[in-house]
Amino acid sequence: MTFRTRFAPSPTGPLHLGHAYSALLAHDMALKAGGSFVLRIEDIDQSRARPEWEAQIFDDLAWLGLSWAEPVMRQSDRAPVYRKALDTLWQRGLLYPCLCNRRDIMEAASAPQEGVTPPMGPDGIIYPGTCRGRDRSGPLPDGAALRLDMARAARGIDAVFTETGTNARTVRVDAETLISQVGDVVLARRDMGTSYHLSVVLDDAAQDITHVVRGEDLFEATQIHVVLQRLLGLPTPIYHHHPLIRDEAGKRLAKRDDARAIATYRAAGDSPADIRARVGL
Ligand code: GLU
Repeated sequence: MTFRTRFAPSPTGPLHLGHAYSALLAHDMALKAGGSFVLRIEDIDQSRARPEWEAQIFDDLAWLGLSWAEPVMRQSDRAPVYRKALDTLWQRGLLYPCLCNRRDIMEAASAPQEGVTPPMGPDGIIYPGTCRGRDRSGPLPDGAALRLDMARAARGIDAVFTETGTNARTVRVDAETLISQVGDVVLARRDMGTSYHLSVVLDDAAQDITHVVRGEDLFEATQIHVVLQRLLGLPTPIYHHHPLIRDEAGKRLAKRDDARAIATYRAAGDSPADIRARVGL
C-alpha cells in the first residue's frame, strides 16, 4: 500500500501554528514513507469560506516548504457526489429529515431533567430523536437537514480502525457506543446539502487516502466515519490523531487567534525552520 495522506484546511480564517503542525507532520510522514501528500479545501460552509483565506493558505503552505499534487480537490465542486451518496442512504431508509433548530434540540434533550446538561457526542448534544418518525418515503428531499438513523445504520456493526502514532492501537467501533454516545448525526445540513462527516469520508476515498493525519479533536468523530465507510462500501484508512498545539494557558488555538497565525510569525521575521521549532518538529 503506497502511503498517501492529505491536509484538509477550511478557508475560513488564517492558518495558525496548529495547522502548520498538522500539515508539516503529514508531509514529513509522506516523505519518509516515499508516499504522496495532497491538499483538499474544505469549503462546504460557503457562508464562511473566503477566496482570500484560500490564497493565504496556499501561500503559507508553499512558504513552509510543502508541495502537493495538482489539481487540489475543492469540496464546493463535489455537491453531486455528496447528493448521490445521500440518495443511496435515503433509498435504504437510513436518513430522515429534521426540522429542529438548536433550541428545540436543547429543550427536548434536557426535558427529562430540567437544568441538567444533556449528554454530548462528537457533534454536540446527542440528538433526542424528535424527528425520527418523519416520513422517509418518496424521493430524497431537497433543502432539508438529513440525519442518519444511527440505530439502523449501526445495526450489527462490529468494526475496528487502526490508530498509529503515540497512541497506537486498534479502536473498536460498535453499535451500542454509536447509538448511546454519538446518536443521529446530521449528514446533510439544510444550507449546505452535505456535512463535514459525509464529505470527509467520500473525499478521503476519492483521493485514495491511506493515512489520515489530523488533530486529536477529531478522534471521536472517526467512529462516525467508519460507519459511513461501511455503509457506502468505502475503505477505512489508517488514522493518526496528533496532539493539539496549545497556547501558554493550555488552550487550543482557534482560527480567530491571529497572534498565532503563520502570517503573523512570517511578518515578524520567522523562517520556516522557526515555525518547525515552535511546533516541536
Ligand atoms: N477541515 C478540517 C479542519 O479544518 C479538517 C478535517 C480533517 O482533517 O478530517 O479542521
